[in-house]
Amino acid sequence: MYNKKIKKLILGTNNRGKVREIKKLLPKYIILNTTKKLNIRSPRENGSSFLENSLIKAKFFSRKTKEICLSDDSGLEIDILGKLPGIYSARWAGKGSNFKIAIKKVYKELEKKNVNWKKKIKCRFICALTIYWPDKKFYQSQGIVEGIISKKSKGKNGFGYDPIFIPRGYKKTFGEMLFSKKSRIDHRYKAYKKIKKFF
Ligand code: IMP
Repeated sequence: MYNKKIKKLILGTNNRGKVREIKKLLPKYIILNTTKKLNIRSPRENGSSFLENSLIKAKFFSRKTKEICLSDDSGLEIDILGKLPGIYSARWAGKGSNFKIAIKKVYKELEKKNVNWKKKIKCRFICALTIYWPDKKFYQSQGIVEGIISKKSKGKNGFGYDPIFIPRGYKKTFGEMLFSKKSRIDHRYKAYKKIKKFF
């Protein structure tokens, strides 16, 4: 079964930004359905890592739909904040997924730490992907992009924490970059490269 290329897939995420970016990574011929379209709510993510939460979602959605599911669990780890928001990245934005609130919270927490903006505030985006087949087999991968927190939120591209993340070796935030650029260096692309063989 795993030698067979996947042609049909459920994208196990209700995050619109992720759906948009994953769709662009996958080959065009894949017949895609989303849990949003199917009106399936996400399960409780009670794992202790991105990989665990990614598996919880992929397994849940595959069992519900009896289809192969690809899920993404990702987030931003900031070293000086003890790796927060990390696996709680979505939750920091509240129920309405308001990332202005989440970003404000990042700056507030950094202020509490009296950060020196002349020094680099090291952080990274991590993405864990899981493909889960209806026969209970699964395959996982992880991608990481290192970077620093921008002193100011900049740019309207992308989603989530993109306006405050400057990837290592660049001057612009992901929010200022075009997707064609972000998608060649980011955590999601690096994780995707490792599962590309299934497509
Ligand atoms: P979850 O994986 O659905 O629990 O959500 C992860 C959260 O991390 C999302 O709500 C995003 O805001 C954030 N996140 C993950 N990947 C990215 C990215 O590529 N850019 C900006 N924010 C991201």
